[in-house]
Amino acid sequence: MGGLVNEEMKRIVVLGAAESGVGAAALAKVKGFDVFVSDMGQIKENYKELLRQYDVPWEEGHHTEALILNADEVVKSPGIPEDAPMVCKLRKAGIPIISEIEFAGRYTDAKMICITGSNGKTTTTSLIYHIFQAAGYNVGLAGNIGRSLALQIAEGKTFDYYIIELSSFQLDNMYDFRANIAVLLNITPDHLDRYEGSMQKYTDAKMRIVQNQTEDDAFIYWNDDPIISRELKKYGIKAKKCPFSIVSKTGMIGYIADGQYVLEYPTPFNMEQESLSLHGKHNMYNSLAAGIAAHLSGIGDETLRQSLSDFEGVEHRLQKVARVGGVQYINDSKATNVDACWYALESMTSPTILIIGGKDKGNDYTAIKELVQKKCAGLVYLGADNTKLHDFFDGMGIPVADTHNMKDCVEACSRMAKPGYTVLLSPCCASFDLFKNMEDRGEQFCEQVRNL
Ligand code: ADP
Repeated sequence: MGGLVNEEMKRIVVLGAAESGVGAAALAKVKGFDVFVSDMGQIKENYKELLRQYDVPWEEGHHTEALILNADEVVKSPGIPEDAPMVCKLRKAGIPIISEIEFAGRYTDAKMICITGSNGKTTTTSLIYHIFQAAGYNVGLAGNIGRSLALQIAEGKTFDYYIIELSSFQLDNMYDFRANIAVLLNITPDHLDRYEGSMQKYTDAKMRIVQNQTEDDAFIYWNDDPIISRELKKYGIKAKKCPFSIVSKTGMIGYIADGQYVLEYPTPFNMEQESLSLHGKHNMYNSLAAGIAAHLSGIGDETLRQSLSDFEGVEHRLQKVARVGGVQYINDSKATNVDACWYALESMTSPTILIIGGKDKGNDYTAIKELVQKKCAGLVYLGADNTKLHDFFDGMGIPVADTHNMKDCVEACSRMAKPGYTVLLSPCCASFDLFKNMEDRGEQFCEQVRNL
């Protein structure tokens, strides 16, 4: 791949020193740039160690303008918002800001398979990686998941393929990067706090996944997403279009029909829907998207069939934790928005006690009201402040409980649940009000369930 080389570019400043920032700094150093890393917060010890190892100078707890505004190019970590004061100053000074993936993409010839969407990215990325590994391909995993792309390239890894999970924040600062296979799962409201409340701005970020694609590339997307269908018309997409749907329609590359999982292109493929290891409607979409990506990459039918049926899933996503006293406990802590919870509820087949609440990102719960009425035998609120939930759900005539820590929450669930019920942690909200992150919330849930 082309891109700027170090004779033209002298100084690279990296803002934010976590997985992607430290990876970008290491790669910039390996490529001979003058590198500096600045983080407003405290840098974790393992990342400091890496910076030392690569001999990269850094600062933490503040940004020294004089050491940043002299950059030729800045790599910004996805966690830093566009309206952060330092970012505004860089924009004003006209200094280009790119993402770590954009930077790293300049230094690899590997085929890039990139996955984005509001929900399902980690599941689909992990599933594609699983299939490629099963096929014996020389494949790496990067992006929002696992180790940064830049660090892997800095370490000299030479994969033929990278499977890359991309968030909208990473896509925001991508310009020349090209996805050989782009997967767009869905676009539903999320992170609007970072996009000035504008759904269009968030959508524009997601659609950047198709920029720079050529006739040699492929674009896999969910055909029935109203936003994607509307947006597609605005782009002169050159890549081979590969839409999928869970119903059979003309033009679909992948679909479900008469209990069969079907792919039409480049060669016909089918298997029993029952044999897919991932359950629930949303996972049909994920399995179709992953299957198309694998099939396009030449993975044989037997390997595809086998790996779509033996994939073990990803933690904290509709993960069955345990059955206690005839009650099934399910951890879907990763459901940090209303749409994810909708799909979780939709896949429930027994009366459900739903655990909901946390840090609300401007949620509108109307989308799940009908499913809550249909499937829920109880609601347990779990947040620092549950007022909005009381206001919205209390009038529905379903028993509710108000809790502020996981122990009380799981105990309340076990009191409400009768044998044959399901307790589902699918909270629609971020976790930061009571937990370190969604993993911490999921792990505490599992621990309390095991203590019952
Ligand atoms: P992401 O990485 O995009 O956050 P995950 O695979 O981690 O996606 O799943 C996040 C949440 O969304 C989980 O609660 C999961 O059950 C739900 N989910 C997974 N795939 C989809 C999909 N295609 N559409 C809607 N929700 C989904």
